[in-house]
Amino acid sequence: MAGSGQKLQHTEAKPLVELEGVRRSYLQGGGELEVLHGISLKIYPGEMVAIIGPSGSGKSTLMNIIGCLDTPTAGSYKVNGTDTAKLGPDELAALRRDFFGFIFQRYHLLGHLSAAENVEVPAIYAGVRPKKRAERSALLLEKLGLGQRLSYKPAQLSGGQQQRVSIARALMNGGQIILADEPTGALDTKSGAEVMKILTELNAQGHTIILVTHDPKIAASARRIISIEDGAIKSDEPNLQAEEAGADGSGHLSHSLIKNVWAKSFRAFYDRFKEAFIMAWRAMLANRMRTLLTMLGIIIGIMAVVSVVALARGASEQIMANISSLGTNTITVYPGERMGDVRSGRVRTLTERDLHALSGQPFADSVSPSVQASVLLRRANLEYNGTAQGVSADMFRVYGYQVSSGRLFTVQDVERNAQICIIDHNSAENLFGSTDPVGKTILVNSVPLAVVGVLEEKDSPFVRPDSLNVYLPYTAAMTRLFKQNYLSSIVVRVADGFSTPVAERAMVRLLTSRHGRQDFFIQSSDTIMKSISSATLTFTLLISAIAVISLVVGGIGVMNIMLVSVTERTREIGIRMAVGARQGDIMAQFLIEAVMVCLIGGFAGVALTFALGSVVQSLTSSITLSFSAVSVLAAVLTSSAIGIVFGFMPARSASRLNPIEALARE
Ligand code: ADP
Ligand code: MG
Repeated sequence: MAGSGQKLQHTEAKPLVELEGVRRSYLQGGGELEVLHGISLKIYPGEMVAIIGPSGSGKSTLMNIIGCLDTPTAGSYKVNGTDTAKLGPDELAALRRDFFGFIFQRYHLLGHLSAAENVEVPAIYAGVRPKKRAERSALLLEKLGLGQRLSYKPAQLSGGQQQRVSIARALMNGGQIILADEPTGALDTKSGAEVMKILTELNAQGHTIILVTHDPKIAASARRIISIEDGAIKSDEPNLQAEEAGADGSGHLSHSLIKNVWAKSFRAFYDRFKEAFIMAWRAMLANRMRTLLTMLGIIIGIMAVVSVVALARGASEQIMANISSLGTNTITVYPGERMGDVRSGRVRTLTERDLHALSGQPFADSVSPSVQASVLLRRANLEYNGTAQGVSADMFRVYGYQVSSGRLFTVQDVERNAQICIIDHNSAENLFGSTDPVGKTILVNSVPLAVVGVLEEKDSPFVRPDSLNVYLPYTAAMTRLFKQNYLSSIVVRVADGFSTPVAERAMVRLLTSRHGRQDFFIQSSDTIMKSISSATLTFTLLISAIAVISLVVGGIGVMNIMLVSVTERTREIGIRMAVGARQGDIMAQFLIEAVMVCLIGGFAGVALTFALGSVVQSLTSSITLSFSAVSVLAAVLTSSAIGIVFGFMPARSASRLNPIEALARE
């Protein structure tokens, strides 16, 4: 009779919650265990309902279905007229976030967040601006008597206080329907009574309250009591004693405080991303040691790659530098058809005019002729065999030579047929001993030449180590020393920006047309360079591939730890889902965490490699490291890619967790 009276009150209103023949069964031990056997139930706005029944009767199962944490195996469930079977995971999350507010027996607060931050969590997922969030969370906690405890962690609060924090959290986004599963079950009588007083007040302010309890004394404060036994409704009656309780209607915890104008904007998306970032950061800080160990794998991998590439580049640069000192990018023209041509001595077509023609070419950086012959060197009573080479002022530039004392030739020296010479280190030692040769005169085949400079000591084919070498302007050599009007060879240094083969072809064309036939041959350093640089490239690639393997191992380490982290934090994931996190929110949080671990590891790896590199280089000069911006950038990109690739699987498995099973995990 009383039950029909209750229903009569609501014939006009639309039910908030409407269950029709709801069944829920679990797969257990190969068979199906049905826990709810066709529950039909309507709950109207503003009601305060207690669901009562013995332990194991299916109350929590029913509550989870009402709260959209779980779905019925049969029957229909409508929230506000919408069939929940038609809703996707994110729409169900939206219902949990904006419509329901959960209060659990074991509070289910996040241990690493403060009271105020715990209360804010549902608003984060709803896209409420940080300032507004903090204000409302502080206001709610203050109303619930926790104004002095905003920054306390759950572990620093009593059970009753924790439950009040969880009530504030349920109200954060409005909490039009408050679902409380044994809210007093873990509390002492006094705290339990306080919680019940708050719930009654909330009901008086317009919140619909659905309360699950096994305790008839707790149920007594509800205005409608539904009793279930063994998965079926046994009775559903109004509780007349409770009708007048707590209805002061002051309205200060009203649920219309929040308007989510931001919820769909880019700004809200950015905010949620930022929150996911902060959450990931906190999770990393909360597990410092584990984070560090995970990072170590990435650090070592990145160090291996960066240092190996730097080593390989350093080695190849050193080899190239050595080759350069032998005269990089030089092309030499010799008379005769090929090397060792017996007629080459008689070929006299390579002349000064060829030299001028070549030096006018754009590909020629500098051009130098050479006339060369064995000579007799004399000074005072000393006599030596040596080699005299007539060169241009450019010759020293062609081979990259400097003098250790005195000066090089000038263009004027060459033009004036100046009778001067530059001698190499050996000649200086043999002819002059420890005195400075500059300014003195030597006789070369009886021609007096004033020494103007001494060449620095350097390995190069230009200076024959088995002979005493004397250099003089080629003009002087041709007119005064050798009395010949042709050249022994011409060396061209190819200008930067021109490839040696191109310059070589142009030279052949030019000289052939000048001479009428190809009575000369050409040699260049390019061929050697090419084979060496391709060898070092292969070497670099091979050794980098090996280093990349260590990065992959590091990445697997990240995946492993992230999987552990997901398992460990299953309950946290469940709580976040219960208060309205979307699958994407959970995914983002874990993915960002993986990427951050890898990125920080990547930066640390690069920094450590640099530090180690400078230490090594200060200790020994035999190892050359050449760091390139590209390898550093590649390392950082690679480490974030590793984070995404190896973090994806754990993040996805976290986002696909069933909220109920996740919550049940301890
Ligand atoms: P109550 O909250 O009324 O104590 P529950 O709704 O938690 O009861 O559980 C009802 C029945 O369903 C119990 O017998 C329980 O063993 C069973 N049950 C609950 N959850 C699961 C599950 N995930 N798998 C199998 N059986 C379950
Ligand atoms: Mg239960």
